[in-house]
Amino acid sequence: MYQAAKHSSKLQKNGLDDDLSLVEGSTSASHRLSLYDQPPLYDITVEDFETSALDRLRILAEIESSAARNRSWEETKQVTITQCGKYLPLNSNSALGIDLQSERRKDQLGHFVLRLAFCRSEELRRRFVKAETTLFRVRYETDDSNERRAFLDSKDFNWISVGSEEKNKYQAQLTHFAPGKSDTERENAFKSEPFYKVKWTTIPDLVDKRKVFMKGGFAYVPAREQASIIYAAFEERLDAALLATSRAIPLVDEETRLNPILDNLAQGFTAGVPSDWHFPLCMRVLHQTLRRDRHIQHFGRLHYGLFLKVLGLKIDEAIIFWRKSFAGGKGSDKFDKEYRYNIRHSFGLEGGRRNYPAKNCLQLHTAHEAGCPYRQLENSPENLQSALLSTYSGQGLTLDDLPEIMTQVKKKAYHVACTRVFEITHSRHVKKGEGLGDGESVTHPNQYAARSIELEKDSQEPKMEVD
Ligand code: SF4
Repeated sequence: MYQAAKHSSKLQKNGLDDDLSLVEGSTSASHRLSLYDQPPLYDITVEDFETSALDRLRILAEIESSAARNRSWEETKQVTITQCGKYLPLNSNSALGIDLQSERRKDQLGHFVLRLAFCRSEELRRRFVKAETTLFRVRYETDDSNERRAFLDSKDFNWISVGSEEKNKYQAQLTHFAPGKSDTERENAFKSEPFYKVKWTTIPDLVDKRKVFMKGGFAYVPAREQASIIYAAFEERLDAALLATSRAIPLVDEETRLNPILDNLAQGFTAGVPSDWHFPLCMRVLHQTLRRDRHIQHFGRLHYGLFLKVLGLKIDEAIIFWRKSFAGGKGSDKFDKEYRYNIRHSFGLEGGRRNYPAKNCLQLHTAHEAGCPYRQLENSPENLQSALLSTYSGQGLTLDDLPEIMTQVKKKAYHVACTRVFEITHSRHVKKGEGLGDGESVTHPNQYAARSIELEKDSQEPKMEVD
């Protein structure tokens, strides 16, 4: 067992009480939204420590990926909601039959673990704050309005309500910022619109867009722009907390068991978390089955395990990955007995010590189990089409694309169908007929994934610099 409070105690002794103060009862959270100003204060296992962080990291990585793909705000919001539903559900107080406290514990824990991992460089801090603020904004916009109001009432955002005398004094200027198309509409809106004063430096986006009146170092913010103040406060507090944590990190580093985990988390974020987004259908199906059932059969483990190995998963990461994937149904003794040996074997560390290669498409086309879905579902076209749509609709594949894919499947040209799916889901980078680039067809799941990751990196790099 690992005590989450242990690090907090050390940090507190170093004068960081403001951002990482110890608070009795911080295992419970009465609001769905959080500014994460109270660190967890309870015993956790190393596995919980890691699982909560990895699940949160998936969501933050998808948020980064949305920015890199120039997704609209509505698209980003939708993708984030879907990812949160899978990996980090966080329901309102009104939800029935849900263990809200355990959802909120996981949310808090993941956030604070990632703080430890991402406070270590300015670049990581900047990216973490940006992704976390987006996640907060999605949750804020989708929160129940009464619960959101209760959350806001419970916090001090340093905003000052503008009284009627002051409001009237600046009526001419403030009316300009009230909604409406005509002067009369704006004047009427002004009467009913409350205003708040905040230091203008805390809301640079509203100042930039000239959406506020400024006077004496304060910005006068109309109530409908209140959300911007809250996002800015979230960002500012997290920024300061990360900086404070980074100064205390040598103390955290004393905990040697956690160091490899924190390092891996940070590296995963830098490289773009290994995401099934880049996988061909065969590996996506195995990944989804494992997520859903917490188990896959022997050949599924073999094919998927070798694929992940070639993708770059190290032996210790593979053991953590599989142990975590089986969590819930398999205790660690059972895992150690039944699976650890096979994983080490596939890395050439047991038995004949052969470093096995991952299976190629030809081998997967003829496999009886856990093989190529285009081949295995060719006689159930409805199932294949629904697998394609549910897997790739978020990446641009539509109903209209299915006939030509199915035509190739009927001709038993499975790799051509798979290549066409690659073209459709990477249409920003490759045109129809170009395959993985230069007309190359899919011959290996790892070739598909490597090319997909490469294209994504190419498109991300210039954006990261502009930011
Ligand atoms: Fe996987 Fe190859 Fe089938 Fe594509 S064609 S799904 S990469 S086995």
